[in-house]
Amino acid sequence: MTSKIIRKSEKSFATSNMQDYEEVYGSFAWEEARARLDGFDNGCLNIAHECVDRHVAQGRGERVAIRWVGKDDTTKDLTYRDLRDLTNRFANIIAKHGAQRGDSLFCMMGRLPEVYVSALGSMKAGLTFSPLFAAFGPDPIRSRMEIGKATVLVTTEALYNRKIKSWRSEVPSLKLVLLVNCKGTPPDGCLSLDQEMEAASDTFETVHTKLEDKALIHFTSGTTGKPKGAVHVHGAIIAHAETGRIALDMQDGDVFWCTADPGWVTGTSYGIISPLANGLTLIVDEAEFNAKRWYRLLETQKVNIWYTAPTAIRMLMAAGRDLAADHDFSDLRFMSSVGEPLNAEAVIWGEDVFGHPFHDNWWQTETGGIMLANYASMDVKPGSMGKPLPGIVASIVEKDPSGKIVELTEPMKIGELALRSGWPSMMRAYLDEEARYNKCFVEGWYLTDDLAKRDADGYYWFVGRADDLIKSSGHLIGPFEVESAIIEHPAVSEVAVIGLPDPQAGEIVKAYVALNPGQTPDEALELDIRAHARKRLGPAVAPRQIVFRKSLPKTRSGKIMRRLLKARELGLPEGDISTLESDEA
Ligand code: AMP
Repeated sequence: MTSKIIRKSEKSFATSNMQDYEEVYGSFAWEEARARLDGFDNGCLNIAHECVDRHVAQGRGERVAIRWVGKDDTTKDLTYRDLRDLTNRFANIIAKHGAQRGDSLFCMMGRLPEVYVSALGSMKAGLTFSPLFAAFGPDPIRSRMEIGKATVLVTTEALYNRKIKSWRSEVPSLKLVLLVNCKGTPPDGCLSLDQEMEAASDTFETVHTKLEDKALIHFTSGTTGKPKGAVHVHGAIIAHAETGRIALDMQDGDVFWCTADPGWVTGTSYGIISPLANGLTLIVDEAEFNAKRWYRLLETQKVNIWYTAPTAIRMLMAAGRDLAADHDFSDLRFMSSVGEPLNAEAVIWGEDVFGHPFHDNWWQTETGGIMLANYASMDVKPGSMGKPLPGIVASIVEKDPSGKIVELTEPMKIGELALRSGWPSMMRAYLDEEARYNKCFVEGWYLTDDLAKRDADGYYWFVGRADDLIKSSGHLIGPFEVESAIIEHPAVSEVAVIGLPDPQAGEIVKAYVALNPGQTPDEALELDIRAHARKRLGPAVAPRQIVFRKSLPKTRSGKIMRRLLKARELGLPEGDISTLESDEA
């Protein structure tokens, strides 16, 4: 923890949406946030209407909603009116081909304009939208589409051929596949989205969804078992819009750049919904991270608000501040970060290079929106995640021996971060996993599985995860999913996967592998297992390091003790190993 406090100037107080945190926190009501949205006469609300059509109806149709910057620097602007017409066409296409309200649409591709059209068009038609990360391998894609009972898939022809075609017929729920960038005749059972869009009508009546109707399904990893499909409802936009206003200081007409991929929850909640609901212009960069490019985009696109992640910030720092020197960042007003712990040095570095600190904030797939934040009008304690959003009650808790929740009110006590349930973007279910969902809620608290502490001024500090999940470059990775793919390699008998600290990615995935009898633990085999993992899981999820062991440490009940492997790797105390049974290096 650093003792330096970054004090905010009078100017940042005066120009920000929330000028006095304590006052707004004390008087906040979600009903007022709801009233800032439009809705339909019958009390219904649809995310796509709030993000798109409402702005056209209220005279903002000619404002740029999305400025897409291609890898080759070509740009394409979509105004709110363009987006309305395109999402209408899209909604007509899926309706024409039989998709119905309540069905689920999956979208997997890089950052192309079609992602945004699919997301908003599907919600317009009353379907649920589920984004998938395009760098996933076939296994994570298939398991998520099976759990989500995908009816429609939108992807590119190249991704379809590489990752889906071979097993498509084994997922019977999938009725319609729409391909982007389809050259020539689409493969069997697929349609060209571009051709369909040309033929479709650009008028559509948005489905009047209720506040509690499903809108989004975001997959998140579990320590054990399958990935979990966190369900979010149309009413979640009340929190998306309001947290954008308060925690990211979104103001009408701002240019906003969220660097997260829409395949992840940040890229949807804050890469699509929140900024569009607030009438902003989104910058969407098709290219991957590149320090020079990012500085150039911030300057030339006149970005006002920038929402990024610790791994990217650390990569910018590593690239050297000279790269930033010749740029004019005078349009930048607010910079923010999420997804993993943001080191105090990075917060301060932001101030040195851009004239603003990075404002760290905290949330999860399950919370749907930002829950703790550093605000434009509040002094920043570098290294802290800030304070709860107005409308959010947070606490540090532990369970007493009888399992009852006890709040730890004394400053700096480490416990589990908990939130009082009931905010609009709270997940409403894990798909088909009621018991797993119910376990998250105890005595009216949502338990986050994160360990944290709160200081005497009410600022929260991240301590670590209470489970075995790995956070690598901002992506939450379930060790079980990685282990399940590696174990299928014919030479492997057992595998355990942990996260190890890494200066840039936060954590990297490391796998310990025990081999079947007769197998030789050599470099060739290691490379082969690595290639197998990358093919099955994709590069974002596959392990960066693989080591061989004779056997893995296990409890008497047969559970692999990942925690013990990690403690040994890091030279930490091994803790209680009374249940340890087998273990041979
Ligand atoms: P996800 O559901 O993939 O968004 O991952 C959520 C998890 O990321 C949280 O439970 C935390 O473990 C971690 N996380 C998110 N934001 C922060 C932050 N500001 N500081 C530390 N960890 C974070």
